[in-house]
Amino acid sequence: MTKGMIFDIKRFAVHDGPGVRTTVFFKGCPLHCLWCHNPEGISPGPDLLVRPSRCAHCYSCIPVCPQRAISKGSKNGPVVIDRAKCDACGACADACMYEALVMAGREVGVADVVAEIGRDRVFYERSGGGATLSGGEPLAQPVFCRELLAELHARGVHTALDTSGLAAWETLRAAAEIADLVLYDVKLLDDRRHREVTGVSNALPLANLKRLSGLNKEIAVRIPLMAGINDGAPDIRDAIGYLKTLPSVKTVGLLRYHKGGQEKYRNLGREAEFRIFEPPSDARLEEIRQAFQDAGFRVRIGG
Ligand code: SF4
Ligand code: SF4
Repeated sequence: MTKGMIFDIKRFAVHDGPGVRTTVFFKGCPLHCLWCHNPEGISPGPDLLVRPSRCAHCYSCIPVCPQRAISKGSKNGPVVIDRAKCDACGACADACMYEALVMAGREVGVADVVAEIGRDRVFYERSGGGATLSGGEPLAQPVFCRELLAELHARGVHTALDTSGLAAWETLRAAAEIADLVLYDVKLLDDRRHREVTGVSNALPLANLKRLSGLNKEIAVRIPLMAGINDGAPDIRDAIGYLKTLPSVKTVGLLRYHKGGQEKYRNLGREAEFRIFEPPSDARLEEIRQAFQDAGFRVRIGG
């Protein structure tokens, strides 16, 4: 059966669709959102996360590194990784007993993930939950994504596909037709500014959302909100105007920005890429919630 690369399976998630859910985080994403809080999901392959505060200075990792990329940073201090030499083989993470070195990214089969999700079945059956495929971007691994959705569906598990929509239409359509619910990110309607903050045009995701709406599939749009980036009146007006043209979009989730990605960027050795934004104020978030509600949408704060 097809294998895929994931970086986490989160149990008891409550913001990734209805009820209590198990969320599978896929590796690989074609966007580079400046506010990304899962930067370990961007690259398609494994990443080494380094957590110096957990290092017990045992130095068991140094001799196992085939690239000689690990050294003592200072006398009796935590180890330092030469990222230019590291090829993310994972040998040091296997040797580290203190979880100071861990790999983000493991190859798994569809059956492995289905079995892991099955352990939580009692929780989502009671709560009306299920499994959510997220990332990264699940559609960046289209065959694995589709097969996983199909296996879960065959077992009666409610499935949600959490996507940016940046994929070939046929790829999105094939996965969406299996999923019970599509959680669809909409960041900004203004394409120039969308490119500035995500690195890509919004033309394909918006065109795909329109086509998806024609499939009569349940879609919940999710909007990450950053103060001064996309929470202004014109941006909210544009988003409401566009979403009102899509009859299948009845629910909007407002995701308030948080700085959860900062430590992960540091652990990946990519702290320079981290940008700090501010979330909208409570008052502004309430205004936005009210605006969507007045336009006829069901609104959820936090997804
Ligand atoms: S094996 Fe882990 S705890 Fe020991 S020196 Fe390496 S990183 Fe630190
Ligand atoms: S992941 Fe492999 S190459 Fe990188 S530091 Fe660890 S042992 Fe060395």
